Amino acid sequence: MQTKLPQTFLATNRGQQANRILRNCVHCGFCTATCPTYQLLGDELDGPRGRIYLIKQMLEGQPVTRHTQLHLDRCLTCRACETTCPSGVEYGRLVDIGREWIEEKVARPLPERIKRLLLRKIVPQPSRLRLLLRVANLCKPLLPAVLKQKIPALPVNSPWPARQYARKMLILDGCAQNVIHPEIDAATARVLDRFQIQLVREQQSGCCGAVDQHLAANADARRQMKRNIDAWWPRLQDGIEGIIVTASGCAAHMKEYHHYFEDDPEYHDKARMISDRTLDISELMSQLPLQQVIGTVPAQIVAFHSPCTLQHGQQITNTIEPLLKQCGYQLQYPRDAHICCGSAGTYSVLQAELSSQLLDNKLTNLCAQEPECIATANIGCLMHMQTRSPVPVLHWIELVDRALRGHDKK
Ligand code: SF4
Ligand code: SF4
Repeated sequence: MQTKLPQTFLATNRGQQANRILRNCVHCGFCTATCPTYQLLGDELDGPRGRIYLIKQMLEGQPVTRHTQLHLDRCLTCRACETTCPSGVEYGRLVDIGREWIEEKVARPLPERIKRLLLRKIVPQPSRLRLLLRVANLCKPLLPAVLKQKIPALPVNSPWPARQYARKMLILDGCAQNVIHPEIDAATARVLDRFQIQLVREQQSGCCGAVDQHLAANADARRQMKRNIDAWWPRLQDGIEGIIVTASGCAAHMKEYHHYFEDDPEYHDKARMISDRTLDISELMSQLPLQQVIGTVPAQIVAFHSPCTLQHGQQITNTIEPLLKQCGYQLQYPRDAHICCGSAGTYSVLQAELSSQLLDNKLTNLCAQEPECIATANIGCLMHMQTRSPVPVLHWIELVDRALRGHDKK
């Protein structure tokens, strides 16, 4: 695609990235076939090709309106289009640039600004989220059923192994997951303990920055990323092998840290090291001899939902399924496995109607063969599906932990 971006913009790092990405797009439209919002709305501007065109027009200096903003807001950033694109168009990076641009040019109505601000100030802040969760649980009996189902129960503490090993990995302490479902990281610590790997928590780190980044609050996202880099960098220099992430959404974001610091000589190399040393838990587990520690467990039928941030964002496919099979689970593969469940970070709050349709479709497909539970790899998808799923929804590492614990009892 030909572009005519202004010279002033082309002189910036963002301008060069956008120009390169736009020029790679040949406008073939293959990507529209796998775009969830195009499938639901049937409007070219709600598909990747149309959005790329809108971004190009906007960056070239044409007027931007609420109409343009709406089509970009409706994008899930699921990146299914990237997986489908034969020309390697990095749509996720482009939409990031487009969103930042439009946020500077088009004012949002006050209620929308408040909603976005509240999400940014609560979700990535564990202490605030914890307080909100407690209050919501106290008020739960008084709420209508539709709200009740959205409030997760208060978590119970789960044991962490205390043993120390030479092989150590950091674990992303993150934000929402450890408030709402701390069992996931505890299960990970127990599973890795079997392989003599110690998980280390770094108190100075926090949210990976994805929430702010997706809400186009780029300066705040950068601040959070810098704080994490400052906390992790010395630990990685000190012999810790890498950073394990149990939420595929956070892992996908951390593997791209270096892109956000391309114009920052102080942080770029450190950010690159963080990206290179970040491992989704599935990547580490696939390197470990699971068959040596696993026994036979009663077969449970599991439908696996691969989050977009795993299969499209990190391009990790068919890695978790064999691990679950090794543990004795019977796997079901749903239809339209490449399509988003509608969670997509804060999308389920900001685009509730589209998100709800995607959730219904996803659960229909996942439950078509009547599984006993659904396994996934991202806290956002887990919580979203849990609101309406007829069967329990778990992180897949919890199933591995259960299989190992079941083996102990024999
Ligand atoms: S993003 Fe890729 S698949 Fe979509 S129109 Fe452009 S080149 Fe074609
Ligand atoms: S990221 Fe997902 S929703 Fe957005 S354009 Fe691509 S396929 Fe469509």
